[in-house]
Amino acid sequence: MAEFDVVILGGGSGGYACALRSAQLGKTVALIEADKVGGTCLHRGCIPTKALLHAGEVADNTRHAAEFGVNASFNSIDMAGVNAYKDGVVSKLYKGLQGLIKSRNVTFVEGHGRLVSPNTVEVNGQQYTGKNVVLATGSYPRTLPGLEIDGKQIITSEHALAMDRVPTSAIVLGGGVIGCEFASVWKSFGSEVTIIEGLPHLIALEDESSSKQLERAYRKRGINFELGVRFVSAVTDQRGVTVTLEDGKTFTAEVLLVAVGRGPVSSNIGYEEQGIAMDRGYVLVDNKCRTNIPGVWAVGDLIPTLQLAHVGFAEGILVAEEMAGLNPRPINYDGVPRVTYSDPEVASVGLTTAKAKELGHDVVELNYDLAGNGKAQILKTAGSVKLVAAKNGPVLGIHMVGARVGELLAEAQLIFNWEADASDVASLIHAHPTLSEAVGEAHLALAGKPLHAHG
Ligand SMILES: Cc1cc2nc3c(=O)[nH]c(=O)nc-3n(C[C@H](O)[C@H](O)[C@H](O)COP(=O)(O)OP(=O)(O)OC[C@H]3O[C@@H](n4cnc5c(N)ncnc54)[C@H](O)[C@@H]3O)c2cc1C
Repeated sequence: MAEFDVVILGGGSGGYACALRSAQLGKTVALIEADKVGGTCLHRGCIPTKALLHAGEVADNTRHAAEFGVNASFNSIDMAGVNAYKDGVVSKLYKGLQGLIKSRNVTFVEGHGRLVSPNTVEVNGQQYTGKNVVLATGSYPRTLPGLEIDGKQIITSEHALAMDRVPTSAIVLGGGVIGCEFASVWKSFGSEVTIIEGLPHLIALEDESSSKQLERAYRKRGINFELGVRFVSAVTDQRGVTVTLEDGKTFTAEVLLVAVGRGPVSSNIGYEEQGIAMDRGYVLVDNKCRTNIPGVWAVGDLIPTLQLAHVGFAEGILVAEEMAGLNPRPINYDGVPRVTYSDPEVASVGLTTAKAKELGHDVVELNYDLAGNGKAQILKTAGSVKLVAAKNGPVLGIHMVGARVGELLAEAQLIFNWEADASDVASLIHAHPTLSEAVGEAHLALAGKPLHAHG
């Protein structure tokens, strides 16, 4: 039996962040991973999708080159070339991460682990015991009852990332972040795309104004969508997949991407047997990521918090520091930055207007249209920066739509998390001409001294 201070089951964002920070704090660490360290984010999520989205942006820029006075013509997408670029990015980061794990003296154990007691994980017949055990087994792509994933015509994001061709047409079931990102990529690559979403809006967790702007932009790009209508069935034949909706409409496409959310990986790995408290498969934790069993912690997509890589990193670090007795502050999940990396991008931090009102705030709103921003005009992007604030109080939420607005979140999250009010931000100088000026201008306007804003 091998003994460690910390045994971590799962080497994705949450697990490896916990391993690296624990090792930094002088602990002996075993990191157990069935597949590749880096998990979903590096191999099947954040990184490869963003590489595809960037390739899509290059394609669109080429199509629109004449608008900038540049002579270029778009011919086609070479999917083998796109995949070589995408895989190159992933493999470089993977090598770097493997090196990091090694250099911090983390013991990497390859294999499928099972929790056989509250402090022991068994892998290939060998037991690894820890003073603490961290569960970080992540998530898998869900489907709907009766909708069978065949990996060819009815696919998940994992199959979509491995495709060696551009589908001529695609139906995307689910208009959340993952669905919208693939819809955006495929449209840029030349596919006919239709999104089916049961809720009344795309990216329904975002502020309604952001959803509506994304919908307007998608309409303009020719991305079709059906909102507020439920999926009934999908039938495959040689022509492709035919989807029938509750309202009787049918759609046929070469592929159906099922993007209806991700479920926790928590069954048949000993969690139930060890009495770990769970709800619908999610491991339940307190605000320091402790499970109900002393010495057992859980982080990342396995717990019912935002399913984002940077949330996994933060939870992994939180647990490492708590185990080391540093008493870190619990995470404020409202302060987590969120991005949909489509064209256009949607980025936000803090509360939506609806949530702020629900919490009883006397809310003021300010919309700054990117039409007034020089850099946005140079980039030919449309969108806005919307502020949600408490009357005579701090900024409660920042919601942005437009090209590259994800990069503006670094400032937006400081504003929200440091509870700045509009006048605090209005006094800061933003470089001209940058998109970040739109953040400055919005706060100038909310502080009652608009510069480049009408009205
Ligand atoms: C298409 C897509 C795009 C995304 N884009 C973004 C994005 O742009 N930004 C963002 O922040 N997030 C994004 N995400 C979400 C992000 O990938 C996840 O939130 C993150 O990977 C969660 O990390 P995790 O450590 O909890 O789980 P995972 O990354 O899923 O890692 C869990 C690991 O545990 C291993 N494991 C499971 N069971 C066992 C076992 N029994 N024994 C050993 N090992 C085991 C798995 O092999 C896996 O490597 C995206 C996700 C998808 C699917």
